[in-house]
Order: sequence, then structure tokens, then C-alpha cells
Amino acid sequence: MRSVVVGGGVAGLAAAIQLAADGHEVLLAEQRDTLGGRVRMREKSRWLLDPGLHLLRRKGAMNQLLRKLRAPRVLGPRWNSHDFNPIGCDKRRALEALTTMSTEPAPGKIPHFVIPRGGWSSLVGRMIAAGNQVGVTFNSGSTAESLTLGSSGKLSSVRISGKEIECDAVVIATPPRVSARLLETAGLDPAPLVACTEQRVAALDIALEGRPMRPYSGLFDDESGVIAVDMTSPDRIPEGADSESCTILHAVNLSGDGPDALAQIKELLDSRCSGWRNMTSTRRSTESVMLHPCSQNQRVDASKHIEAGIGLAGAHVISNYHLSDAAVDTGRAAAKALTKSR
Ligand SMILES: Cc1cc2nc3c(=O)[nH]c(=O)nc-3n(C[C@H](O)[C@H](O)[C@H](O)COP(=O)(O)OP(=O)(O)OC[C@H]3O[C@@H](n4cnc5c(N)ncnc54)[C@H](O)[C@@H]3O)c2cc1C
Repeated sequence: MRSVVVGGGVAGLAAAIQLAADGHEVLLAEQRDTLGGRVRMREKSRWLLDPGLHLLRRKGAMNQLLRKLRAPRVLGPRWNSHDFNPIGCDKRRALEALTTMSTEPAPGKIPHFVIPRGGWSSLVGRMIAAGNQVGVTFNSGSTAESLTLGSSGKLSSVRISGKEIECDAVVIATPPRVSARLLETAGLDPAPLVACTEQRVAALDIALEGRPMRPYSGLFDDESGVIAVDMTSPDRIPEGADSESCTILHAVNLSGDGPDALAQIKELLDSRCSGWRNMTSTRRSTESVMLHPCSQNQRVDASKHIEAGIGLAGAHVISNYHLSDAAVDTGRAAAKALTKSR
């Protein structure tokens, strides 16, 4: 079976590995020059300063995949949730915010978190290596433009950067708006995807020559919605530096995006992590980045187009997981459903 995966984020990578492992001939098209999607490595100076919080759930879908790929050690040490400091709320509420990265309540058990060794880039690197091992063809710098169905109503080809690629199945692992546009090109109903409203946040990633958050491992301020974690990990600090005297902090404002949201993050750090500005070696701030492609109740049912040979994947697809775990879970589920439907 010839299959195309559109999108080279963690959802697309998980789908491609699964399809190839199940015997498909797989082409993955990614419009950017690098794979990894939103978790792409962005190194600055001597530090490995990947974007985002980097906390993964110890028993999440990403962990399960890494174990299958015989790379459990990529998921590194446990993050110390004991010293997570809730401000204006109880610890349970703060940990719920961390679990879902939202201010919505999260019923159920709070997971244990781990810090991936080498950051997001090592996770993505391991997934690319696995894809290569099972024969996935990676086409970065290629944009999927449209889908074509045959007279039987089943997928016949995907147009990628001006070329018609014949195939039997596709996993669309792109943000909802792009996925909706692609479905529309095949005359399929994009309505549930169009209804997804992106949740954007302000974020700040800082490499520090100092440990200003001590004795805490993280902070959550219920009033502003700012969450900040100390991600000290020996493999992410410059060579020769002492992990006891430097660290990386990642912070997001779960209440929203824009200049005021970014200012609130800095205000919280000013009040709780005294001296952080003078300790900063390098930092990256963004006033607006998409954290969730939709709200929890807008997640879409991916089974609708499976019979036509079209699967959907990403954190906007129904799953028991959140964030990157939802992306991995839905990528693998779409691949398995397509294999089963043939
Ligand atoms: C600030 C921040 C902090 C985060 N922290 C955490 C955390 O601590 N733990 C956690 O688990 N998750 C975290 N996440 C969430 C995690 O990063 C995402 O859930 C995950 O990366 C989503 O992966 P994806 O593959 O679904 O989507 P994406 O990464 O968005 O990938 C989609 C890909 O599709 C490509 N594409 C789009 N259109 C086309 C087209 N037409 N043709 C070809 N390719 C196309 C894009 O270029 C992109 O590479 C964080 C996110 C942010 C923004």
C-alpha cells in the first residue's frame, strides 16, 4: 500500500513510522526544511534552548512509542513535582494546569513528568532515525496542496509541490486550518476542523547562569495563569558548565498571548526569581505561539474519512492524551485505522 503523510511534526512522524512498520510504502511531506514541527530545535549560542516546556508524561503515548523504538532512555530523569510552588491555589490545581497546559480543570490522576534527555531535538531525532530504519521517505521543503478521490470515493492521489503523487492512503497531520483546506479540495466536509479555535500563549525560554527559582522546581500563578518550570538537565547546558550553577527556565502564560501576557510572565519572574535578568545568558521570547490547536470540547472525530483512505492526526483529534502525547497517539491510531480498513 502506498501512503502519504502530510506534516513532519511529532504526529506525522509517529504516523509515518507506524505505517511503514505495518508494511506501507511511505512518503512524508513537510513544508519546512526541517522536521519536528512546533518542537523544532532552535539552538542559540552555546545553549540547547529548544522551544516550550519539555515536560513529558512518564506513562504517556510518547514514552510508549520510545519504548517500542527501544529508546526508553531518551526520556530522562523525573521532574521534581514535589517542589512545584502553587501561588494562589492548591498544589492539585497547579499540577492540573501543568498536565493539560490549560487553566481548565483536569479530572483524573496527575501523571509523573520526565525531562527528555537532549530536549525535544533528541526525541525528534530518534523518531527520524526510526523512520529511516523502516524505510520512510522524508521530503522536507514539500507542501501538500490538494487531495483527489477516485470514482469509488477513495483517495487516488495527493498533490505535493505541484506533483501528483498516486497513493491509497494519507494521514493529514497538520494544524486544523490546513487539514480543513485539504479536505475541502477533495469535496469533503471540513466543518468540525473549521470550528477549531487555536489557543495561543505568550512564552519565554531563558538560559541562565544561576538558579534563581531555587528552592522550587516550578511555579504556577493562578491569577495570571503563568506557569514556569526549571528544566535543569546536565545535557542541555554548555560544555564545561556546572549544572549546579546554571539552568534553563521555560515559561508560558496559559491565559493568552500578546505583549501584556508576555509582560505578566516577566513580572512573575521578577517577583519570585529575584536576579533572573542579570543571570540571563540567552533568551527567546514570543508574544504569540499556538499551544493548543483547539479547546478540549472541539476535538474532532478522525474516523469519518478512514473508508476514503484519509486519516487525521494531531492534538485537535479525539484522544485520551494531551499535547505531544495526543499528537503521537492520534498519529499512530490514524495509521492503524488506515491499515485495518484495507
Ligand atoms: C510553548 C509550547 C510549550 C509546549 N510544551 C509542551 C510540553 O511541555 N509537553 C508536551 O507534551 N507538549 C508541549 N507542547 C505541545 C507540543 O509541542 C505539540 O502538541 C506538538 O508538537 C504538536 O505536534 P503536531 O505534529 O501535532 O503539530 P505540528 O508540530 O504543528 O506539526 C505540523 C507540521 O505540519 C507542517 N505542515 C503544515 N502544512 C503543511 C502542508 N500543506 N504540507 C506539508 N506540511 C505541512 C508544518 O510545517 C508542521 O511541521 C508545547 C507547545 C508549545 C507551543
